[in-house]
Amino acid sequence: MNRTYDVVIAGGGVIGASCAYHLSRRQDLRIALIDAKRPGNATRASAGGLWAIGESVGLGCGVIFFRMMSARRRQAHGAAVAAAASAPHILPPAFFEFALQSNALYPPLHRELIERHGMDFKFERTGLKYVIYDAEDRLYAEHIVSRIPHLADQLRWLDREALREAEPAVSHEAQGALEFLCDHQVSPFRLADAYTEAARQNGVDLFFNTNVTGVLHQGGRVSGVRTAEQGTFHCATLINAAGAWAAELSEQATGIRLPVKPVKGQILLTERMPKLLEGCLTTSDCYMAQKDNGEILIGSTTEDKGFDVSTTFPEVAGLVQGAMRCVPQLKEINLKRCWAGLRPGSPDELPILGPMAGVGGYLNACGHFRTGILTSAITGVMLERLVHQEPLPLDLTPFLADRFEAGLLKGVG
Ligand SMILES: Cc1cc2nc3c(=O)[nH]c(=O)nc-3n(C[C@H](O)[C@H](O)[C@H](O)COP(=O)(O)OP(=O)(O)OC[C@H]3O[C@@H](n4cnc5c(N)ncnc54)[C@H](O)[C@@H]3O)c2cc1C
Repeated sequence: MNRTYDVVIAGGGVIGASCAYHLSRRQDLRIALIDAKRPGNATRASAGGLWAIGESVGLGCGVIFFRMMSARRRQAHGAAVAAAASAPHILPPAFFEFALQSNALYPPLHRELIERHGMDFKFERTGLKYVIYDAEDRLYAEHIVSRIPHLADQLRWLDREALREAEPAVSHEAQGALEFLCDHQVSPFRLADAYTEAARQNGVDLFFNTNVTGVLHQGGRVSGVRTAEQGTFHCATLINAAGAWAAELSEQATGIRLPVKPVKGQILLTERMPKLLEGCLTTSDCYMAQKDNGEILIGSTTEDKGFDVSTTFPEVAGLVQGAMRCVPQLKEINLKRCWAGLRPGSPDELPILGPMAGVGGYLNACGHFRTGILTSAITGVMLERLVHQEPLPLDLTPFLADRFEAGLLKGVG
């Protein structure tokens, strides 16, 4: 069958769904959202943290990554570099701006999706506390504070007593915490479902269990896609929101393989329990987020294992030990499930957005690594403006694919 659209979005995770929703708001375009439901979809693996500052300074999902890097550095250079190893892994200012603008969109978006579309993605104002056990953690927290003076009003130090009062379940071993006041949480599954259902209500055609297998070209432009299950789709613009699989699609569309790689994350879920955590917690071992239904998500590893989505004892054990150290009561709670997802990693940890030189009819919306839930809202806004050729809320330059050296962008033609 032949279908014709203004925009085809390939990939129906949180990024594709947000693009579909934001593009459908004006109801002036014919849009198709196509998703293959590949194992490892990152959105359904996620913790749902909106940790704009926390993630920008290497906490939350990035914490295990930081630990791994710092252990490697210590191994390579010895204890003399302990102070350097405690330097936070801070992302560039363009990312902070991107993350903070996205974060600010959630309260109105939450109201809008409930009021207009009856979809509640469970936005909760929780804050994020970095729990400090020892001198190294404190040094790391002090480094963070010194590097972001412009965000001082969003930070709060909690001493031992203040932490005990704010989070009674946290271990007495903890010396205090650094809290990020504007970092909150959502349900990631419900967020993707809310965008998707609202897009459907606005007239977007959804094609699930549908694999984009090839890209059509005409006159030097992308002009459509081939699918295994639904035939051919013609379009004026193709959006690549294929998550960890974006390199494969970019190669088909542009002849250039984007440097997007799967980065595996394992995560655990407890059974439901009465409120144990007042806010989200991150330590140097793991993070924890209690959801509105009482379940606690404990995450997450950062592994370079290709498209493998197995769950493994040493990694799960590391998360469990880290969680029990922080919240001893968890020893009495049952684990319900563990799983793994594939983050769409990019070499500099920034998403890849917008056009590619010399290829019309094609836009990137990929490479969101460990913050795609947080940054889905601003990504949807940016792609909506790009398609309508309207001014953007942020400078696109740091996010364009051509920021990578030629060696990273491998041409195949
Ligand atoms: C354990 C873990 C915890 C995380 N925690 C957080 C967090 O707390 N906060 C946060 O902001 N982020 C978090 N992330 C990161 C976040 O989940 C991702 O950045 C985000 O989900 C990426 O969304 P996406 O839509 O790009 O990719 P995905 O959700 O993976 O969706 C891509 C979709 O494209 C489809 N697809 C691919 N190729 C094709 C094709 N050829 N044809 C059709 N469909 C195709 C796939 O089937 C898939 O469904 C976490 C990730 C993991 C793994």
